[in-house]
Amino acid sequence: MALMNENYLKLQGSYLFSEIARRISEFKKENPQADIIRMGIGDVTRPLAPAVIKAMHQAVDEMGQPGTFRGYGPEQGYEFLAQKIIENDFTPRGIEIDVSEVFVSDGAKSDTANFQELFGINNILAVTDPVYPVYVDSNVMAGRTGYPNAKGQFENIVYLPCNEENGMKPSLPLTRVDMIYLCYPNNPTGMTLSKEELEKWVAYARENKAIILYDAAYEAFIREENVPHSIFEINGAREVAVEFRSFSKTAGFTGTRCAYTIVPKEVMVYDSQGNCHSLNKMWLRRQTTKFNGASYPVQAAAAAVFSEEGKKQIRETIDYYMENAGIIKRGLEKAGYKVFGGVNAPYIWFKTPNQMPSWDFFDKLMKEAHVIGTPGAGFGASGEGYFRLTAFNSRENTEQAIERIKTRVFF
Ligand SMILES: *Cc1c(COP(=O)(O)O)cnc(C)c1O
Repeated sequence: MALMNENYLKLQGSYLFSEIARRISEFKKENPQADIIRMGIGDVTRPLAPAVIKAMHQAVDEMGQPGTFRGYGPEQGYEFLAQKIIENDFTPRGIEIDVSEVFVSDGAKSDTANFQELFGINNILAVTDPVYPVYVDSNVMAGRTGYPNAKGQFENIVYLPCNEENGMKPSLPLTRVDMIYLCYPNNPTGMTLSKEELEKWVAYARENKAIILYDAAYEAFIREENVPHSIFEINGAREVAVEFRSFSKTAGFTGTRCAYTIVPKEVMVYDSQGNCHSLNKMWLRRQTTKFNGASYPVQAAAAAVFSEEGKKQIRETIDYYMENAGIIKRGLEKAGYKVFGGVNAPYIWFKTPNQMPSWDFFDKLMKEAHVIGTPGAGFGASGEGYFRLTAFNSRENTEQAIERIKTRVFF
């Protein structure tokens, strides 16, 4: 008899997006003529940059010729891409990264989910609340947690509430933790940490020999000064942090799939005898065993993101989304909402009026404005009473949606 991994029994169903879909389809049945605008999507909508498409076409042609055909590439990615990543994303910020510290992959979702397997099963992890659910669920599957309580919070996870009172900035944990997941600019709150704030986390990790798993998937959306683009801008971070980056939101690669993870040589974890071991070596071992690399045409396309025209084209698309973000933020503020995010991230996070439960607000917005967003409660207990809109829709729909919220939704 094949026994199951019983940790899967601890997981809650992927309730959030299926529940949203169920409510929309029910509403549509009763209101077939309603022109629904979806502002809940966490997916890009603008096409790939022409420079990226050109490079991908060329790479496909190379694969069709005996002289230029390529089979398996290096599991950790081609050096031509790693070099471009270092030269463009790190060197200009004064960060030295070696090619052997760059691990190219097919996504930051898989990297953030897989990386936990390098850690002991008894480590305590800390996550912000609200949180990107992948960090939590991957650790549940691995058996690093207990069962969830009535609020949906798992035993052996330290939740760091982010709310109006602390301006969506988590406080350092009060009890000892070993693995810390931070995502900045943040999904879902759209907020950032300053250099000084991030320095506190690096200091905590150094004092406690903890590791920070830093998700910088939205780095390209940062507009303000003094917002770190990489955790490696902080002195001492090379000894305690790993950074996840992705071409998904930066360059529209959600359907193309390419990301990378930086694992510095200095980051160490400890065995039960107290001897240190290199996470870089462990991740290399893991990837070479369980992963066979991102495809050559995709890596060639990702390298074109860093060409002069590629950079320009990508900037235009990000500007487009960030203008949408500004329209949403200003519109909601004008309508009297308390708004977070939308300045350095494509997410706008706001308080529901009169502490209305976020699912009730979802229904109200859908019924009165025909606008769909994401209830904050879907991202964690502290998300209750908040709501997320994204800047990834078209300009026209974004303007329409905000106009409708301003003129149709009242309290
Ligand atoms: C979208 C997103 C990613 C990117 O995932 P990919 O697998 O690279 O598409 C990573 N982290 C967060 C928080 C995200 O929202």
